[in-house]
Amino acid sequence: MLADQQFLRIPGPSPIPPSVQRAMSQTMIGHRGQEAKELIHSIRPKLKPIFGTEQDVMIVSASGTSGLEMAVVNTVKPGEEVLVVVTGAFGDRFTKICGAYDINYHRMDVEWGKAFDPNEVKEYLQKHPEIKVVFATFCETSTGVLNPIDKLGEAVRSVSDALIAVDGVSCVGGVETKMDEWGIDVLVTGSQKAMMLPAGLAFIAASERAWEKIEANEQSRFYLDLKKYRDNLLNDSTPFTPALSLFFGLEQVLHLFEEEGLQHVFQRHNLMKNMTREAIRALGIPLLTRDEDASPTVTAIRPEDFEAEGLRKILNNEFALTVAGGQQHMKGEIFRIGHMGYCSPADVLQIIGILELSLQRAGKSIELGKGVAAAQQVYLQGVQ
Ligand SMILES: *Cc1c(COP(=O)(O)O)cnc(C)c1O
Repeated sequence: MLADQQFLRIPGPSPIPPSVQRAMSQTMIGHRGQEAKELIHSIRPKLKPIFGTEQDVMIVSASGTSGLEMAVVNTVKPGEEVLVVVTGAFGDRFTKICGAYDINYHRMDVEWGKAFDPNEVKEYLQKHPEIKVVFATFCETSTGVLNPIDKLGEAVRSVSDALIAVDGVSCVGGVETKMDEWGIDVLVTGSQKAMMLPAGLAFIAASERAWEKIEANEQSRFYLDLKKYRDNLLNDSTPFTPALSLFFGLEQVLHLFEEEGLQHVFQRHNLMKNMTREAIRALGIPLLTRDEDASPTVTAIRPEDFEAEGLRKILNNEFALTVAGGQQHMKGEIFRIGHMGYCSPADVLQIIGILELSLQRAGKSIELGKGVAAAQQVYLQGVQ
């Protein structure tokens, strides 16, 4: 096997485009100098369309979870009750963060592999008017579900004035997101998924409604205080030393998005989803989620007659193709293919081709080429 060859198809970290890799190797600069200011100035407006917001998107140098924790500590006042909609491991993470801050949280569990129903959230809030913030996950990475965040705002607003905070870490940048139009108050994403960068940056924006509350919130916080980031961003700056190499890379990522066109980026992800799902279907292997709930960035597959972990080993050892296993109680039950960021229909054909070979090697009898052919057909229909 070629030592340098790595087919990284987990739902983050995802591969880095070569021009982004090169941008990140630029000579270091001072974070308080003119060059850093110009860099941040050029990045700022380009993040807004990715979030679908007119608000500034703040950049924190830390992994995606810092953005989730920021959403919690900035929007929840001491003593308030909140609701966490849990559709998998990342919804669960919000409850752990709330727990760490002794926040009184309600938890609405949805069966793993399914999307939440905005009406159920609405009904829950009707019964619990004391809830002041709703936390939800856009793409639930652990199951490959894309939750109906586009319908959450309306459902919540019809019965409650609770703020809505959304974890979009594994899809924002790959899936059309309209934070303002959908009525999302806080939206978070991270650098190492659809944003085509290494881990190390979290992105977070807040609505005007959210800012009013954040400004008055006496909950203590320091590094994660959103106000510090906003006040500095107004001067094209950050409150602490930013991960400047990642900022160099980010500027190039935003350039790549612009060149391809955001709408095309979203279409490409949709096409990759459809190609992957039809291929798996053609091979006779069950998918975890329904088509209506499936995320364009990650696909979860639930084998019935072979071992997911054994297959993952073959993929890895023989072909250097890494896919993800299941999390928590889904460990060993499913495997997940990431198709986000620097990933194209050509990559999907490669993944499926390798998968077919590995399935044979794992002892599952399949017709070689059947999955690839199905993906090819989807491609042909998709580009017409
Ligand atoms: C990856 C991911 C995160 C953040 O994880 P980090 O390891 O902290 O970057 C949060 N939420 C979702 C949905 C994710 O997929």
